[in-house]
Amino acid sequence: MAGSDKGLGKGSAADKALDAQRRYIAERERGYREQALKLYPWICGRCAREFTRANLRELTVHHVNHDHDCNPVDGSNWELLCLYCHDEEHSKFANFIRYGGTTENKKQAATHNPFAGLRDALKGSQGGGSNDQA
Ligand SMILES: [Zn+2]
Ligand SMILES: [Zn+2]
Repeated sequence: MAGSDKGLGKGSAADKALDAQRRYIAERERGYREQALKLYPWICGRCAREFTRANLRELTVHHVNHDHDCNPVDGSNWELLCLYCHDEEHSKFANFIRYGGTTENKKQAATHNPFAGLRDALKGSQGGGSNDQA
């Protein structure tokens, strides 16, 4: 009868491509993960937490240059990080992309915060108070 999956594109080319890509990513990940785990001690590179087979899935492989296609066999682009540190590392990287990541920029941004205007407003309303320099 009328198939309930009509229009869902089950088994469509796009679906297959997506599936193949997913499998490719999973396989690639399993590949470099295994290599990295063979190469390095099972210790988080940030917090030095140690791992055993029991909790090994919480130890992840981080790509130092954030390029998951860059997998040199000598492991130079891999770093073993626990889930938390890995997360941290990526949010740091996201901030770096978004804000330029230097402390200089952060300081600059801080001087542009509302407090500057607030201080001026206070000064103004005090009609030239003499001693806010202390
Ligand atoms: Zn860690
Ligand atoms: Zn990573």
